[in-house]
Amino acid sequence: MIVKFLGTHNAESKNTRLVSLLIDDVLAVDAGSLVSELTFPEQRKIKAILLSHGHYDHIRAVPAFAFNNSDRTTRVVATPRTLEILSSHLIDGVVYPEFTSEASFLRKATIKLVPLEPFKRQDIEGYQVMAVPVPHPLDGVGFEITSGDGKTLFYTGDTGPGLSSIWSNISPQLVIIEVTWPNRLANMARDAAHLCPEMFKEELFELRRIKGLLPKVVVIHMSPQHETETRREVRQVAELLGISIDIPREGEELIL
Ligand SMILES: [Zn+2]
Ligand SMILES: [Zn+2]
Repeated sequence: MIVKFLGTHNAESKNTRLVSLLIDDVLAVDAGSLVSELTFPEQRKIKAILLSHGHYDHIRAVPAFAFNNSDRTTRVVATPRTLEILSSHLIDGVVYPEFTSEASFLRKATIKLVPLEPFKRQDIEGYQVMAVPVPHPLDGVGFEITSGDGKTLFYTGDTGPGLSSIWSNISPQLVIIEVTWPNRLANMARDAAHLCPEMFKEELFELRRIKGLLPKVVVIHMSPQHETETRREVRQVAELLGISIDIPREGEELIL
């Protein structure tokens, strides 16, 4: 399984992109920067897009992707709440054409919405995908994704603290987890249901207690404005736990 990090931040600039992962070139996970980081031929390889929740930074490139790839139908897979947000606020026939309908000027549906039920494994383009609810608004979920050759990752999506019950239900070799702000902004992180390094540390302690060891850990969704401080605090967590923690930048790949 090859994971390419298209976007690893929570804010967009010339040097930072919104969250998007690409698995083996065919399965996209969240759509913050799905078009800006891929050529048209690369976009054509994508068969399905998983969305963790309906916040703008995770769904915003879906209409642009649909517009670029209007000669075929791409599956967008998410919980019913996320699909409803996408349809009513973004692909609504006003801001963008209704890509899910044959009524638009394209005369065919270029997006097919596929509902995903939490805790139920579904086959998505040869990958076993299970949505797991996480503490974040809009019924946010993380995804456990297992490839055909048995490699498993868990992506938290956006989440606040309190992942203990989730760790018991999954067995990934790789955890991709969000850490948005530094410890100095812990209150803001708690209010917005995100993690700071101190909360992240507690989640990893709990994961290690439950599993007996830690899988590979990768951190994304960092706020660029506070990145130096947050990276330093994440490195301190890694030292404390005696593990290495990757904080990939846009364009980096990881082979699992
Ligand atoms: Zn969010
Ligand atoms: Zn986000």
